[in-house]
Amino acid sequence: MSLNSHIEWTDATWNPVRGCTKISPGCKHCYAETFAERFRGVKGHPYEQGFDLRLVPGKLAEPFSWRSPKLVFVNSMSDLFHPEVPDEYIEAVARVMAAANWHTYQVLTKRANRLHELLNGRLRFAAKAQNIWWGVSVEDKKYGLPRISALRQTPARVRFLSVEPLLEDLGTMNLSGIDWVIVGGESGHGARPMAKEWVISIREQCRAAHVKFFFKQWGGVRKKRNGRELDGRTYDEYPQRIAAEIPDRSSCTEFAAKVLKPLHKVFPPNPLIRIAR
Ligand code: SF4
Repeated sequence: MSLNSHIEWTDATWNPVRGCTKISPGCKHCYAETFAERFRGVKGHPYEQGFDLRLVPGKLAEPFSWRSPKLVFVNSMSDLFHPEVPDEYIEAVARVMAAANWHTYQVLTKRANRLHELLNGRLRFAAKAQNIWWGVSVEDKKYGLPRISALRQTPARVRFLSVEPLLEDLGTMNLSGIDWVIVGGESGHGARPMAKEWVISIREQCRAAHVKFFFKQWGGVRKKRNGRELDGRTYDEYPQRIAAEIPDRSSCTEFAAKVLKPLHKVFPPNPLIRIAR
């Protein structure tokens, strides 16, 4: 995990999978790819293999070692529901999230159909967990809006949208069943612009539907200068967090060992499991 994430809507990131492949226009300037590729070939670096997809079972234990409750963005450097991540491994990640339940996990995907399929099947136990929020990315009408429909029909205690990078006016959205919406513009070199009226439209729809609204940033080439105020204020709303108490250190270690033992039998902690491309 990485503490003190710079991502505005989370505390920490946890990456039991690394790497991904592009699927839609929102991926064009993927920050994870840019970051990972910078370290391709650097011996011993976690991103020595660049952005190639691989499982990192050695990371499964990490949430148990965190002694204070965190908001944890799961797979900030990948997509848990990527088609090449085995169902068994996704279940292992979900078992850890359901067990280390003093944290609140934010799982975000662009593979909404697989999310839908698994939460209706082998991940049903995790769909019921109060401490796991399930979300989809929405960048435009063509790719993003169908993901909202898939998420709405997915059993989950908390459902959220990450509308970032917002690439066009999304028009009227159906926000029923959605608890939280994050909006942000693209940042960095070549950032595609985001119009204020697109953001206002989403904020007003959230207000009307009683959905929590978080405005992350305007983005742009100079992200810091453009800031994150909308109409003179910031919007930092979140769904209610319901997390369990942290067990004392020794029972936590015992508990972690019990949860991890069967998972590590299938996915031993040391090797990186590379997925052939
Ligand atoms: S799905 Fe996410 S992590 Fe994967 S390439 Fe697209 S933006 Fe990057």
